[in-house]
Amino acid sequence: KFSHPHRVGLGSSNPAGKIPLGLKRKGLRIVVTGGAGFVGSHLVDRLIARGDSVIVVDNFFTGRKENVMHHFGNPNFELIRHDVVEPLLLEVDQIYHLACPASPVHYKFNPTNVVGTLNMLGLAKRVGARFLLTSTSEVYGDPLQHPQKETYWGNVNPIGVRSCYDEGKRTAETLTMDYHRGAGVEVRIARIFNTYGPRMCIDDGRVVSNFVAQALRKEPLTVYGDGKQTRSFQYVSDLVEGLMRLMEGEHVGPFNLGNPGEFTMLELAEVVQETIDPNAKIEFRPNTEDDPHKRKPDISRAKEQLGWEPKVSLRKGLPLMVSDFRQRIFGDHKEGSN
Ligand code: NAD
Ligand code: UDP
Ligand code: UDP
Repeated sequence: KFSHPHRVGLGSSNPAGKIPLGLKRKGLRIVVTGGAGFVGSHLVDRLIARGDSVIVVDNFFTGRKENVMHHFGNPNFELIRHDVVEPLLLEVDQIYHLACPASPVHYKFNPTNVVGTLNMLGLAKRVGARFLLTSTSEVYGDPLQHPQKETYWGNVNPIGVRSCYDEGKRTAETLTMDYHRGAGVEVRIARIFNTYGPRMCIDDGRVVSNFVAQALRKEPLTVYGDGKQTRSFQYVSDLVEGLMRLMEGEHVGPFNLGNPGEFTMLELAEVVQETIDPNAKIEFRPNTEDDPHKRKPDISRAKEQLGWEPKVSLRKGLPLMVSDFRQRIFGDHKEGSN
């Protein structure tokens, strides 16, 4: 166990790791890299509501100011436009490192996962902050084990079109564990499975956002390949709860954070039809290279060690996302309000 000398004066007679969520305690200083993005902005909402001071570091590559604008003017909130590939000096207690070009359209040839993670680990080491990495189920590649447990080492193509993301996150995990073992940095690793919800990028090519936007715009739903490949879809509030429990808890991980409900892309299209437009058409398109055939988390470890499991099913979560997409696509009496 490593101590947190910098927490003295921040209510540290009761270290952050020991305080159950929901209990009153003095606020922490927390950096959220990628905090203007989809997941990050929901996390920021929860941290601010809990009374913490939050610094968002984001280069707005895929994130949007609109996602955090409701905190402008709050003295506990700061927004810094910064690329984490460049060094950064801050004094903080915790670092949630989410910055990452998260979609295939954006992640090619980008050093964020390696250089950005190294910088944030350097920062954590210098100030003694606890560091949480948001890794991904993609570290399992096209998995030969189903469902995937954290002990599975994965099946990743090192030279394929997706490798920059998969291998980038695998390297980020390696760096994180090296800083933990070598420099004594307190670290946490989450392996996130497909997550959806309000504020998701509309046009970045992910399947849930594509189908929802297509159904709303009366366009056909584009199913890639035969549509029999599977994914597990987690609602964003479940993920945020898992990330916070992981950060506050005692265990390094890695932890799978995902919803074990497994759907083929054709089944997902059906749920979207039921939710938005029963007459929405389906159009088949060629699949992308190296597309994993199936993916479903084994979340026993998170259940046991974090007391966490998802609560929102796809049929309950999808409508919550649809109202946000409807507003952003068709405007809220203002054109281009987002
Ligand atoms: P997102 O694209 O909405 O958020 C990523 C944020 O990082 C954006 O705001 C972007 O502007 C910012 N960013 C990118 N490169 C940066 C850089 N170099 N410097 C500073 N900021 C930078 O994506 P998200 O879905 O919110 O993903 C958040 C994290 O969760 C990512 O690390 C992603 O890999 C991980 N994850 C997400 C999912 C999912 O289904 N959403 C699944 C697995 C893992
Ligand atoms: N770093 C940073 N902020 C800090 C401390 C370090 O951005 O507060 C960066 C630093 O520029 C370096 C990386 O983190 O590129 C790794 O830092 P570390 O001290 O571990 O490595 P070193 O500088 O000794 O190679
Ligand atoms: N997909 C699809 N139609 C789309 C976008 C994606 O059928 O419009 C498929 C894609 O081929 C993959 C699955 O949906 O099999 C999930 O894709 P996504 O990019 O959302 O997530 P990931 O592949 O990273 O899990």
